[in-house]
Amino acid sequence: MPELGDLYQSLILEHSRSPRNYGAPPATSVPGAPLAGNGFRSADGNNPMCGDIVRVWVALAGDRLADVRFTGKGCAISQASASLMTTAVKGRTREEADRIFERFHDMVTGKPLDDEARAALGKLAAFGGVARFPMRVKCASLGWHAMRAALHGDAPRVSTE
Ligand code: ZN
Repeated sequence: MPELGDLYQSLILEHSRSPRNYGAPPATSVPGAPLAGNGFRSADGNNPMCGDIVRVWVALAGDRLADVRFTGKGCAISQASASLMTTAVKGRTREEADRIFERFHDMVTGKPLDDEARAALGKLAAFGGVARFPMRVKCASLGWHAMRAALHGDAPRVSTE
């Protein structure tokens, strides 16, 4: 991934090797199952162009994403992005998570970001370089789409195709 720059490449490789919040929660929920209390709900993401898959679990406490976990396999970008996604949205409100998603999505799809948006993205800026590589955009977005699907319950499975 020389195109992403050395600093960002090392961050992505580090997260792909040691993903954060990795592993199914103790009480595994059924994908698409109704949210019950503080239980987890999940959604699967599939990027057939690259062979990436992720499953994301979200547990809400009130309006807050009390816990976010994932499992998956695939390229370094897809797995590192899912890992960094969990660290970015865990502990945030639904509204904040949506806002982070929107900014991340704008960045990887090449939309211009203002200074505030750029600052808010923090480490997620590591994925800014993928905007030039349409296939990589799907890799970088996969975990985020799955998180949104789990959060909003609109689809237990999401595909980039
Ligand atoms: Zn990929």
